[in-house]
Amino acid sequence: MFGKSPLPNFPVTRDCNYVAVFLTMACPYRCTYCINHFETPGRIGRKHLTGKDWIRAFNRITGLERNTGPIPITLQGGEPSVHPDFYEIINDTPERIRLDILTNLSFDVEEMIARVDPQRLWREAPYASIRVSYHPGQANADELLAKTLRLMKAGFSIGVYGVLHPTQAKHILEVQRRAQAEGIDFRTKDFLGYHEGRLYGQYKYPEACSLNGTRTVLCRTTELIIGPDGNVFRCHHDLYEEAAPIGHILDREFTMSQQFQPCDCFGHCNPCDIKVKTNRLQQFGHTSVEIEFTDSPMDMQNDRATATC
Ligand code: SF4
Ligand code: SF4
Repeated sequence: MFGKSPLPNFPVTRDCNYVAVFLTMACPYRCTYCINHFETPGRIGRKHLTGKDWIRAFNRITGLERNTGPIPITLQGGEPSVHPDFYEIINDTPERIRLDILTNLSFDVEEMIARVDPQRLWREAPYASIRVSYHPGQANADELLAKTLRLMKAGFSIGVYGVLHPTQAKHILEVQRRAQAEGIDFRTKDFLGYHEGRLYGQYKYPEACSLNGTRTVLCRTTELIIGPDGNVFRCHHDLYEEAAPIGHILDREFTMSQQFQPCDCFGHCNPCDIKVKTNRLQQFGHTSVEIEFTDSPMDMQNDRATATC
């Protein structure tokens, strides 16, 4: 579609906080609370870029080096290890680029140990470069902790995260206690989204996730979000809902913009984009997007959501 000739470089923006590469939306698990399906369940099976095309894309991204430490490219999904070229992508990424991986650890850890030098995934940061999400009911806690220990002993930087979903918080805290007793870095994350009619999470713009109506706003992001087929999206809402992309990572003309863009889907934002959280330096108070309002809140009375909201 975009040819195979060398691509011009482009820098990430000065305020870029995160580069997210969704290698695939496919996942062997079926969590009922999956944030990938905040609105429309089951949108998986999209086209995937090959490993070679991902490497072409990574090669053109510059400006990731910062005085405070490099901005890594974070491989995620879905479950990123489902991508058929997962290991080629890790090993062929240029050395100047640091890689992080978000995974549910469903992959074969012996294959990871055999095929990847742990140094490839090491960097100075206040959190692990392989971040495992524990999903009760999908993964077995004993098996997950054993696999984590195996990778730790092989020299990988790895930590586990559990979401404090209201129905699972007690269990998550118990597994955290067991993990920490074995020296595993196990952290908890707030549940984002609705449960029994209540919206959980701390949001900079609470009405953004109400799903009750829409407003037209101006929005800009600090994240470079790239979907499985190479399309680039303004935010997680657009990624998951397959809204119109703002470009394609293999398009010669693509650049990352710091400009505010109009959006008529405010009210249907994904919690990931609106949540108040820590930035990549673990400083609390960061939000992925900044929104400017150009109308009155009264304009949100009716849901005028378009097909892609
Ligand atoms: S493991 Fe993650 S991507 Fe897979 S279904 Fe669960 S929450 Fe969704
Ligand atoms: S207003 Fe919400 S849906 Fe629109 S671009 Fe911003 S985060 Fe995405």
